[in-house]
Amino acid sequence: MTKAPQNIRIFGILGYPVRHALSPLMHSTAFKELGLPYEYHLLEVAPESLRVKLNDFIDAGYSGFNVTLPHKTTILKLLHNVESTAQAIGAVNTILVHDGRMEGYNTDVLGFIESVKAYQSYFHKKKILILGAGGAARAVVFGIVKEFAPDEVIVVARNLEKANSLIASFGSNSSSISPEGTRFRAIGWNDASFREELFRASVIVNATPVGMKPNVNQSPIPEHTTLHSGQLAVDLIYTPLETRFLKLAAEAGARTIGGLEMLVYQGSHAFQLFTGLSMPLDKVRQMLETKLS
Ligand code: NAP
Repeated sequence: MTKAPQNIRIFGILGYPVRHALSPLMHSTAFKELGLPYEYHLLEVAPESLRVKLNDFIDAGYSGFNVTLPHKTTILKLLHNVESTAQAIGAVNTILVHDGRMEGYNTDVLGFIESVKAYQSYFHKKKILILGAGGAARAVVFGIVKEFAPDEVIVVARNLEKANSLIASFGSNSSSISPEGTRFRAIGWNDASFREELFRASVIVNATPVGMKPNVNQSPIPEHTTLHSGQLAVDLIYTPLETRFLKLAAEAGARTIGGLEMLVYQGSHAFQLFTGLSMPLDKVRQMLETKLS
């Protein structure tokens, strides 16, 4: 691999597959808008060659990476340092390279919090329902508990073991109550209380891929669920921009937030780490909306 000229900084996104990732569009748009002579590449790397390829990229002079599935967790052991939030969540989505040393960060947490912060009264001392127990759910629960101290977080998952392991990492040793006073519970999709909790929750976050293109007619909540105007529905999915779940919630009078906002804000925090500069948010959001609509 040839080394980059000194004035050019190069970044890339590591994933497998990675060709649909939107980070190249976001960062390249921002570099161009700010007149930075930087490059951003798609780096499709299979799990078994991650260690070797990462060393090749460092030797070639890469200054930083975004990380997407399936590497977000497995890459931790290859890094020299992992910032405390990323360590607590167990996932990294941004890496900075300094003198050959790799430092891992998780900007999904800040991205999610920023996307919902205008609605913090819906979270503080309220009941929050999280659908899904994967990496994104973990980042969302971490952010919500630390930032908004809700009364209760209920994780709804098809794999209860995974949901229980998620909440165990936030509760104290002896109970499922966090130091912030948040209570936790895990329930299955078929749990008798699911419909009632959907009605009673102040915020419902879809952290599953259910409803994502091409399955746009699917929704993570059962048909004929009663939502209402006192609720906030958040979907982490951004393809389509408005999912069936959000449509149903809006029809019931609930407030809604789509995944594009989190995408933009997690990207802007990564950009800040990469360059020390603010991402031109409006320009980047506009490019993404055009691409996705
Ligand atoms: P992940 O680690 O694979 O977790 C996905 C979760 O959804 C798991 O709990 C999985 O259950 C569950 N799930 C998958 N298919 C399901 C189904 N048909 N029915 C019920 N549950 C199902 O993925 P992730 O990284 O957390 O991502 C989750 C979603 O968030 C994706 O749509 C992703 O695009 C989105 N996301 C958006 C942003 C953003 O910036 N807007 C950032 C990160 C992620 P099992 O464990 O049983 O498989």
